[in-house]
Amino acid sequence: MRYSKLLTVFLCLILLTMNSTIVASTKEAIIKENNVNLRSGPGITYEKVGQVHKDETYAIRDQADGWVEIQLDRESGWVSSEFVSMEVDNVSAEAGASQSLILTVPIDKTHIRSGPSTENDIIHFASEGDEIQVMDEVDDWYKIKLNDIEGYIYKDLLKEKAKSDTEGLKGKTIVIDPGHGGNDSGAISASDALEKDITYKTAEILAQELTTLGANVILTRDQETFVSLSSRATVSNTMSADAFISLHYNSIPNIPNATGINTYYYHEQYEPLARYIQQEVIKETVDRDRGVGFGDFQVIRQNLMPGVLIELGFISNPEIDQLLATNAYQKKMVSGIVNGIQRYFAQ
Ligand SMILES: [Zn+2]
Repeated sequence: MRYSKLLTVFLCLILLTMNSTIVASTKEAIIKENNVNLRSGPGITYEKVGQVHKDETYAIRDQADGWVEIQLDRESGWVSSEFVSMEVDNVSAEAGASQSLILTVPIDKTHIRSGPSTENDIIHFASEGDEIQVMDEVDDWYKIKLNDIEGYIYKDLLKEKAKSDTEGLKGKTIVIDPGHGGNDSGAISASDALEKDITYKTAEILAQELTTLGANVILTRDQETFVSLSSRATVSNTMSADAFISLHYNSIPNIPNATGINTYYYHEQYEPLARYIQQEVIKETVDRDRGVGFGDFQVIRQNLMPGVLIELGFISNPEIDQLLATNAYQKKMVSGIVNGIQRYFAQ
């Protein structure tokens, strides 16, 4: 008896919890005009089944082709989405704010993909100011419609980046990716130092400098751990990084006097970040300028945030190898990278 009472209480608790969850996630349609026709299907060719009026609120059952199916007392019907505004899930009820599920694309060349993952193809580039209709949500992605195009956009790409009134790096999230690590040593230098250790050293100095300037810095790995390339990009995506900087060193053991620095971008809109960093690093180090170019590297390809990969010099070159062991030269490279990032944020 006691047992079953407890069970009943327990079940009620579960039901209460379930119920409040459902209420919280219900999307509602608010009718914007008077005498809006209600139809039996999503289109004007469907039979008229009634009318709804300004400021009336209904639960949304479904959406299709620019039409919204709303729940009335007993039956449901379809209204054209231009006559309704929709309450978004995550808008707090206290604020009383209602918001239509039409979002404006904040930056040019925003990727629309065929599915909700970076593994899916880019099917369209949305332009700044494009108005897109959100049809559904799948994890961190919106299923959207833009004119005749249907696809998926990573949610964070639609967040208007707060125009920072603070100067430069304050409050910016920067992900630093020290290339290689763990079992993956990378290249080996003229003096047998490992690329993974030199990239880590540079990353530490860079992290310190950026932190001093007020940035929130995240390293993709610690000194000894192996981290997969895709997890490195994921860190950047999940943190909505303002910049992702992957650090590497080059090596051509057969040509020991090969020298120079180059920077890669993958997504064209982030070319300026690569260009500014390259220019500033060359200014500081006076190493040979090997330029900026497109590079098909996974850490920047799967990165949705502004990402670059820098080859900071040839460790197979004994002279450069020696320089890299000094703090003074490391600090020059780091100053160049910091100045480049600051120029990018200031543009
Ligand atoms: Zn490397």
